[in-house]
Order: sequence, then structure tokens, then C-alpha cells
Amino acid sequence: MNEIIVLGKLVRFQHEILDVAVSNIRDTLWVVPTQHLFLIRQIDVVPPLMLGSNPNYSGGGSGVGYPRLSTLCFDRGHKPHNFPLNLTLLHEIGHILDEHYGALVNLPREHQATLRAIGIPAGARTHGDGEHYAIAYQQVIVGTASAAVRTAVFASRPFEGVDTIHR
Ligand SMILES: [Zn+2]
Repeated sequence: MNEIIVLGKLVRFQHEILDVAVSNIRDTLWVVPTQHLFLIRQIDVVPPLMLGSNPNYSGGGSGVGYPRLSTLCFDRGHKPHNFPLNLTLLHEIGHILDEHYGALVNLPREHQATLRAIGIPAGARTHGDGEHYAIAYQQVIVGTASAAVRTAVFASRPFEGVDTIHR
């Protein structure tokens, strides 16, 4: 296990520290609201096989309370969409926020409907209803969300007191 601090967060690598992962995590955490970073105790970077039976699975496990990322999600060839901002990491942060705050279930019905209408990609590992919030969160942070999704996410509990985001 090798450890490094990135923007104040402990990042643990199962094997050697990958420079590409460190810079990608730094770039990504930079755009996450400070209030959300408080909830992220650490980030683990682990070999692909530790995340399940599919060796190509590049997520993404937040069930332990902090993001666990496969080294594959820092592979530009395998995951070009994770550069410059790591969508997998943002998605996992979305799950953690949803679980901590009950973000989706506490939204007014019309906002819940907006988020539940977001399609979940085929083959995605779903985390139940939280999947919709995780996808919406990721879209809002990188600036690709529709106006309705953005409004709904900003109305959710994790965004109380968050006035602006970087994009
Ligand atoms: Zn998910």
C-alpha cells in the first residue's frame, strides 16, 4: 500500500503510485464543492479484479463510504471520458452524497421525477435509485446536465449552502 495526499485527501494505491491517477484525481477534486469534499475520507485505487468478476469494470465502489477506483479508470484508452475530469470518481462521490443525505428521496416529487427519468447505461452496476442521483451529480459537476437536472440537483440536500460550482 502506498499513500499520498491529494488536495488534503488521503489517496491509497494498492500498488505503485500512478502519476496519471494523481493528477487526474487532483484535477477532479478541484471542481468538487468543498462541502462535498468533507465527506470523502479517502480514495482507494485498486487493481481491476478487486472490484468484481468483470475485469473490464473500471468503477467504482462507494459502498464502503469512500470511493474505490479501479486502475482501469485512469487508462485513457479504456476510459477516454475520464479525462480531464474523472467521471467515475464524480459518480462515486454522487453515491456517497446520496447515501449520506438521502439526496434523491428527500427531493420534491417533481425533481425526483426529473432525476429518475435519467437513463442508466446498459451494463452499469446499479446501486438502485441512487444510480440516478450519481449520474445527475456527475453531469452537474462537469457541466453537461440539462437545465431541469441541474435545478433538481441544486435543490437536493447536499447543495444547501453551495452557491456556485466551478462549471
Ligand atoms: Zn453507480
